[in-house]
Amino acid sequence: MSDHDFVSGSKPIPIARGEGPYLYTDDGTEYLDAGASYACTPLGHSHPAVVEAVQEQVAELTFVDSSYPVQSREDAYAALVASAPDGLDQAWFCNSGTEANEAALKFARSATGESTIVAATRSFHGRTMGSLAATWKDKYKKPFEPLAGDVEFVPYGDSEELTDAVDDETAAVILEPIQGEGGINVPPAGYLETARELTDDAGAALVFDEVQTGMGRTGSMWACQNAGITPDIITTAKGLGNGLPVGGIVVRDWIADGAASHNATFSGGPVVTAAVDATITTLIEEEWPAHAAEIGEYLTGELEDALGDSVREVRGDGVLVGVELKRGANRVARDLALEQQVLALPAGRTVLRLLPPLVIDESEADQLVEAMRTVIAPDTEANS
Ligand SMILES: *Cc1c(COP(=O)(O)O)cnc(C)c1O
Repeated sequence: MSDHDFVSGSKPIPIARGEGPYLYTDDGTEYLDAGASYACTPLGHSHPAVVEAVQEQVAELTFVDSSYPVQSREDAYAALVASAPDGLDQAWFCNSGTEANEAALKFARSATGESTIVAATRSFHGRTMGSLAATWKDKYKKPFEPLAGDVEFVPYGDSEELTDAVDDETAAVILEPIQGEGGINVPPAGYLETARELTDDAGAALVFDEVQTGMGRTGSMWACQNAGITPDIITTAKGLGNGLPVGGIVVRDWIADGAASHNATFSGGPVVTAAVDATITTLIEEEWPAHAAEIGEYLTGELEDALGDSVREVRGDGVLVGVELKRGANRVARDLALEQQVLALPAGRTVLRLLPPLVIDESEADQLVEAMRTVIAPDTEANS
């Protein structure tokens, strides 16, 4: 098996069960999940509150279309809007992250009457044709071209280039507040503010793709709240239903009022929205975003101490952590999995991405750090 197969194809670890931050194979081997669920389980695997909500709902009413009011959908809308910054008052559910970004781009185009989208280098917004057009990597795009046109890419984090790109013909600027797939790239201070000012002046929509950064991972429910910037649209998915397939967007009134018709058959289905409501409610009532900030700071500090000069940088926010290695990330991810029973994700060639559930405690963070030290800096002393 090549390194490439290991990360993008199947891995020889058949998973049978999950609980909290751990996954288990049939024979009971325990794996610490710091990436296997791609930020989809902020509360940890099979969280009781979500399991119970889903089990009750699936038995009571599995599906009815979104033109009929259903309590779980109403509750999920209310929970999502309440969790978002003031001014983002209308929500819509879909089935995935790419679909949330498709909706955002369509809504931005129809509400502004313009068509140009400004996106960033190293962005990842999904793999359906519209979101793919705003995604940076050629590997994902080239075989499928031509894609939906009118996307201009600017270097992520560069305010001057962004200023040059945004004009009266811009429908939307779409950015991840911290880039995930692209390598855990944190923009310089002031960058998101500049994006806000430019889009305000141009009458364009500012779209923050929080599919990976949202749901408490960076220490606030939404990463834009850390920066104090309210976009016109937030897109979400991944952790939104703690593992159930659901995406959503929250938008300002001018977007909702100006948007032309868009919908999906499964939009806001009762079962997934029961999961959304249970997930958001539990995250907020039990204050997991604040925990994510604390445990993330602890984890990052311990990683820096343990790995020292063996790595180039440890960066990120909360439990969205990237470790810039001095060697290939695929191999390190493989060694962590097969030798240390720790599951992590590469993000680009040399960045290892750690996305543990928000609920990890210090001893689990220590386990992650010790596994990383053993694989990356084996000649150093454990710091126990
Ligand atoms: C994963 C991801 C997407 C795509 O989500 P899917 O549910 O896989 O379609 C979009 N944007 C970001 C930032 C992501 O991390």
